[in-house]
Amino acid sequence: MTMMREIAQLGAKVLRQKAEAVVDVHDIEIREIIEAMQSTLATTSGVGIAAPQISESKQIIIIASRPTPRYPSAPLMEPTVMINPCFQILSETQEKGWEGCLSIPGIRALVPRYQEIMVHYTDQQGDLVELKLSGFVARIFQHEVDHLEGKTYLDRVESNLDIFAESEFVKLIDGTQA
Ligand code: ZN
Repeated sequence: MTMMREIAQLGAKVLRQKAEAVVDVHDIEIREIIEAMQSTLATTSGVGIAAPQISESKQIIIIASRPTPRYPSAPLMEPTVMINPCFQILSETQEKGWEGCLSIPGIRALVPRYQEIMVHYTDQQGDLVELKLSGFVARIFQHEVDHLEGKTYLDRVESNLDIFAESEFVKLIDGTQA
């Protein structure tokens, strides 16, 4: 039986709501949401997912950085489930980088993000975890946490000139990485 769910698309109310904090990580409903997020993410070439993207307004994200056709130079890491995540900025330095979103197909944009952050979350066992993230993985984290606040990456774009159709983005990347 597949736990795969449909991915909420831009315009859906659930993507604009603040997600609820998880009270009990061992709750069966929470476990089912996490399984559904894992199954759904595995069918895509995305590198992260937030619970609101499968229409569950809970503070849960998964970060799964890996090289994919969407993000060829992404670092490889074990998929990590993060419950009630938050972060502190370690350096004020922001860098623009390309992002896309499973909820906004066909579009890519340059988004400024903090380069170094300290993240705090609860893992699936209920333990508190503190972790320093930087670069692309820190970018994914900030993108997913935005979903829990009812924001999308388009809200962070500095100029409409930084928004590209996926087909034009592919041409650009092919040109620069050849
Ligand atoms: Zn997204």
